[in-house]
Amino acid sequence: MVYKYYKIDGDKITLLKRKCLRCNSLMADHYDRYACGKCGYTAFKTKEEKTKAKTKAKTKAKTKAKTKAKTKAKKAKKE
Ligand SMILES: [Zn+2]
Repeated sequence: MVYKYYKIDGDKITLLKRKCLRCNSLMADHYDRYACGKCGYTAFKTKEEKTKAKTKAKTKAKTKAKTKAKTKAKKAKKE
C-alpha cells in the first residue's frame, strides 16, 4: 500500500518517504541517509534528522530492555 508513505493531518498530506531526485522513486530510509534502490542515488540526512532517528532508536531500545526484564522475571519465577 502506498498510503503508509503519507501522513494525513487534516487536509495536509505529508510525504514520509523521500523521493529520489534523479528517478523520482521512493527512497529507503537509513539512519544517516536516504538511498534509492533504483538508481543508487544517496541523500545524506541533516544533523537534525539524524538526532531524530537516534532518539527514536533509543526509545526502541528501552522498550526492548523492558521486555527482556519481564522475560527474566518470568523465568526466575519458574525456577
Ligand atoms: Zn533513483
